[in-house]
Amino acid sequence: MTEKPKIALYWCSSCGGCEESVIDLAEDLLTVAAAVDIVFWPVALDFKYKDVVAMNDGEITATLINGAIRTGEQEHMAKIMRKKSKLLIAHGSCAHLGGVVGLANFYQREDLLSRLYQEVPTTNNPQGILPQHETIESGRKIKLPDIHDTVKALDQVVEVDYYIPGCPPTPELIKEAMMMVLENRLPPRGTVLAGKKALCDTCPRIDSKPDKLRIKKFKRIYETEWDPEKCFLDEGIICLGPATRGGCNARCINANMPCRGCFGPTDNVRDQGAKSSSFLASIIDVTDKEALKKTADSIPDPGGLFYRYGLASSILKGKLTPKSS
Ligand code: SF4
Ligand code: SF4
Repeated sequence: MTEKPKIALYWCSSCGGCEESVIDLAEDLLTVAAAVDIVFWPVALDFKYKDVVAMNDGEITATLINGAIRTGEQEHMAKIMRKKSKLLIAHGSCAHLGGVVGLANFYQREDLLSRLYQEVPTTNNPQGILPQHETIESGRKIKLPDIHDTVKALDQVVEVDYYIPGCPPTPELIKEAMMMVLENRLPPRGTVLAGKKALCDTCPRIDSKPDKLRIKKFKRIYETEWDPEKCFLDEGIICLGPATRGGCNARCINANMPCRGCFGPTDNVRDQGAKSSSFLASIIDVTDKEALKKTADSIPDPGGLFYRYGLASSILKGKLTPKSS
């Protein structure tokens, strides 16, 4: 009997949403599970680290890794899974681009740790102890994974063969990626397995998007009553559809929410944040300096908006701020 393809799933710095997205395959999960041998999936099945280490190099047909890389343990596991797998697939925005987790790169590691372990009102830590890489507890040496200075996308630590974008990816995209692997009809290595064009091109509201947009003030959703059939940008509500890869079935738009960019940039754009900000700048319709400043100030949290999913893999990679004293 021919052996079934071996599939592994692993998570790094992740919220768990991408693991959920596999479960969202619903009954299709049974079809996929029947066609493959799942050999490692710590969230759902009781396989151990030593089981993977004992495998031959390249023995796993494809591994899907979700989550970004923040710790030494995650980098180590990414390297192990790379070695053991013929194909390594970045699953979701965090593995693809650094994702929401990558927003931590706006801060210094030390500042994040002291905020979390010493300053927040809900933390009870009178001695102000910070996580240690190595500590002695009741005479035993305990080692914890080291925390890297910055968050990285998966392909910043290992070679990645394919990317499934989204926060989280749609079940349709995950199923299609699995079928591509199983039916051996994969596109060129490095392909993002989603749409090729920007979201606007497939948006159900595209007909109401004017050829020339002119915006004097950007509005937040709560500040306006908007027509749920009309293009968000035409209503003055920031939508990143023009600068974001399509292929998500316009899930957010259909739920009456503007696009926030989780599918990342299209193939011909290097930096989604730069593209988004230059695009928005091009539709501002004011000329005097004061009015321009007012319009720019109406963009809420520009860094978090333009780089919500892609800061770690952007040209900036993060914010170089001096460590606070
Ligand atoms: S891509 Fe989104 S859903 Fe997936 S782990 Fe990251 S934050 Fe969670
Ligand atoms: S800007 Fe947003 S709402 Fe308008 S067409 Fe593009 S994706 Fe759709």
